[in-house]
Amino acid sequence: MTASTRAALLLCFILLPTGCRSDNVWRHTGIAPIPPGATIHLRVAHAVNDRLPRMTPSQLDSLLAATRKTALEHFGVYLEFSEVTETSVDALLALIPPQVRQAHMNEIYDFKSGTGDRKRLAPGILNTLQERGTKLADALAYARPYLPDTAQPRSLPELSTALAEVMLARLDDWRALKAADGKPVLDDTPRNEWILWDTLGYGALPYDVVISNQLVASAEFTAVEVHTAIRGGLTTGTTTFSRTGPYGSFVFWSTFPFTDTSAQSHALRGNEDYSATQAAELSGAYLAHEIGHLLFKFGHPFGHQACVMNPASMLHYRAWYEGLDARRCRIGSLPEMRAGAIPEAYNAAWLRMARER
Ligand SMILES: [Zn+2]
Repeated sequence: MTASTRAALLLCFILLPTGCRSDNVWRHTGIAPIPPGATIHLRVAHAVNDRLPRMTPSQLDSLLAATRKTALEHFGVYLEFSEVTETSVDALLALIPPQVRQAHMNEIYDFKSGTGDRKRLAPGILNTLQERGTKLADALAYARPYLPDTAQPRSLPELSTALAEVMLARLDDWRALKAADGKPVLDDTPRNEWILWDTLGYGALPYDVVISNQLVASAEFTAVEVHTAIRGGLTTGTTTFSRTGPYGSFVFWSTFPFTDTSAQSHALRGNEDYSATQAAELSGAYLAHEIGHLLFKFGHPFGHQACVMNPASMLHYRAWYEGLDARRCRIGSLPEMRAGAIPEAYNAAWLRMARER
């Protein structure tokens, strides 16, 4: 589930002042997790932003091979990938139905113009923490090393405030990053906005996995996860609703955090850069995390390092990879590792808008 019911209810009053229509609710897709041992075919696209470094076709092959291997070891599922279709970031984002895009846009915190409403960020994070049933001790065990020493949160609201501050400070650092052309990586286009990628599946998206060299770093009033906040709003991958997808969702995957060699990425990776081969293989292994969301609807067993579904801390993808142990993280061995732990949901009103387009 990638957006909050509360936000959707608020939204429906904004859109429809007379009150909510009965279909303006979040609903589960009802698509069952697939059984272990299945062979699954996935359609793959590479969405390129020409301004940013990109993986070569041979890197993409290595990436997908690593995804296949990791998914088989940890989930017992055989993945088959289509030929990779190359497209552009802009062509894909143009698939979003304009009405849906408009309805979702007010969840974006505008950090570029400085006009965003800062006060709404911490309550948005708190809402997500509460919706996911996050325990303070678990979240702190995960986030504590990456919060400033001055932050001593003793409750979920205090943690939410600390996370909002850290997210905005690190997002400013992403904002300062320059591309090879000397202009900001996060330019004035909305390509970096997670909300747009989260909305892409309301269009007729003909892919199950969208790999992109786009840096997605942004702040939202809804669905901000702990691991995303401490990275400065950076998204490595997201699995979210797709109205045409056979699994009810599609995966967005950014290679930028693996290939970028800026000082900020270097530091957040634990003071290292990856070779071209390492970037492809680590990225591919970590993409299996999203496959776990896509096919099995697993949750996040924070801190269980043996599990693919434990999000990497910051950009420590190598440490994440080295902690994996399929024997110590079987399907069903933890609540978050039960198939169907987080069923995919969609907004019924937005789907109606998309179909009426
Ligand atoms: Zn995840």
